[in-house]
Amino acid sequence: MAFTLPNLPYAFNALEPHIDAKTMEIHHDKHHAAYVNNLNAALTGDDVNKSIEDILKDISKYSPAVRNNGGGHYNHSLFWTIMKQGGGGAPTGALADAIKAAFTSFDEFKTKFAGAGATRFGSGWAWLVSNGGKLSIGSTPNQDNPLMDVSELKGTPIMGLDVWEHAYYLHYQNRRPDYITAWWNVINWEEVAKRFASAK
Ligand code: MN
Repeated sequence: MAFTLPNLPYAFNALEPHIDAKTMEIHHDKHHAAYVNNLNAALTGDDVNKSIEDILKDISKYSPAVRNNGGGHYNHSLFWTIMKQGGGGAPTGALADAIKAAFTSFDEFKTKFAGAGATRFGSGWAWLVSNGGKLSIGSTPNQDNPLMDVSELKGTPIMGLDVWEHAYYLHYQNRRPDYITAWWNVINWEEVAKRFASAK
């Protein structure tokens, strides 16, 4: 029952020009694949039969290798699905209402989320999380995430943005804010809304 690398749900070049094909290929085929392989290598005994969510909620009981690679596997699996070719725009329905309730407006939400990604020092992730339908924004270091018992930021991850240099350096070099600005054009809001609905 080993963990497996999920297929990318679109072609490597689907998110061009915002995220380049080479970055997507290396990110999925090398980085994410390594997290999966290293996670499988680090798990022993009954832990190999657990879901990734069950491992993450008790992550303080596991080795650093499980924390880093288990987080890496969960985070990237989420990340691929919340992007798509021809994405972007704005959310609608219950998600749009919840964003407005929590952040006043969609523009305020974007500013706050982009700020969380831009100011995360070093490697990590920016997150939109739901706690009983209430939305909040934060960030985590390395491959930590809001499902982990060790995380300061808690909740169900609705949307996550990878701000590791490997996610943008080939095309954007050191310009992380430019990558974040471009990323709004590839968001799959239908998928984010689905995650929000099932988190409530
Ligand atoms: Mn990554």
